[in-house]
Amino acid sequence: MTTKPKIFILYTGGTIGMVKDYNSNVLVPFDFDQIQERIPELKQLNCIIASESFETPIDSSNMNVDYFREMVQIIEDHYEVFDGFVILTGSDTMSYTSSVVSFMIENLQKPIIFTGSQLPIGDLRTDAKENLITAIQIASSQRNGIPMIREVGLYFEYKLYRANRTTKINANNFEAFDSMNYPILVESGVQLDFNSKFINIHSYNSDPPIFRKDLNTNIAILKLFPGITESTIRAIIMNEHVEAVVLESFGSGNAPTSEWFINVIKESILNGKIIVNVSQCIGGGVVQGKYDTSIRLKRIGVLSAGDMTTEAAVAKLMYLLTKNLSKKDFKKYFKKSLRGEIS
Ligand code: ASP
Repeated sequence: MTTKPKIFILYTGGTIGMVKDYNSNVLVPFDFDQIQERIPELKQLNCIIASESFETPIDSSNMNVDYFREMVQIIEDHYEVFDGFVILTGSDTMSYTSSVVSFMIENLQKPIIFTGSQLPIGDLRTDAKENLITAIQIASSQRNGIPMIREVGLYFEYKLYRANRTTKINANNFEAFDSMNYPILVESGVQLDFNSKFINIHSYNSDPPIFRKDLNTNIAILKLFPGITESTIRAIIMNEHVEAVVLESFGSGNAPTSEWFINVIKESILNGKIIVNVSQCIGGGVVQGKYDTSIRLKRIGVLSAGDMTTEAAVAKLMYLLTKNLSKKDFKKYFKKSLRGEIS
């Protein structure tokens, strides 16, 4: 007897689960328990679907660590029984959320697919149906009873990406995300085309996953621009609550060579802060030492984030900062691929 895969859908909020209130013309969340009635096509899928919703669905701009923990707890509670998970969130912060969730689960052996939409599910031209239906199909795809995807993915507009490689690049287009530094995992055309060479971080094994809910958010993002002043940089980096800073630099990791700039970064590192260098470009990455404008950063102990996205670097810092690592180990783990987030 063949059993159908069981898929668990969690709705946390965002446009996908909204309908227009035609009296007020405002988007309001609909009762997600009615999902199967709203999208009768779901019944045609070759899987068993169960769904749950956050008690109060949120706009993803309100996403925070408590919600990350709640999400991962719900996944953990249902992990044994279900074969795959589809998490619906707003697209605005989906790359951050899905990146954090990728770090919170070690040795994941089942698919966790994030998706959402640009237009609400009730809209005539909605992208919600395709995104949801294909995300479920991908989550339920198995070969010899083993899930095809065993990592955290993000599905949007006919493409499944590795979640921690994505960035939201467009507020208007249906193609709202990109993954410039890592290939598409699955392309949805007439068939689902699995790009096997690039899927999954580790091989299939029977060890149980580890769910980690400890996160540290004492992080700042400092985006450089020509003309940025010392006082602005100091105010951010020297803030007593900030333990780690994502320094968004130019091009391949370049920053001003002025004495004051190098000194303030050096001072912060000597004070125990962690400074990581992420490129402002969405493609390519940081190569410290390629130019004179980055060699000094390397010498004073700034860590290169390579081709990581800002979202992945923030997520990785939230995760690694809880581990009480020595400087040497922090550097080692930051530079190493833990969930496929860096090449
Ligand atoms: N503002 C919405 C959100 O991120 C947009 C969306 O759902 O895509 O929650």
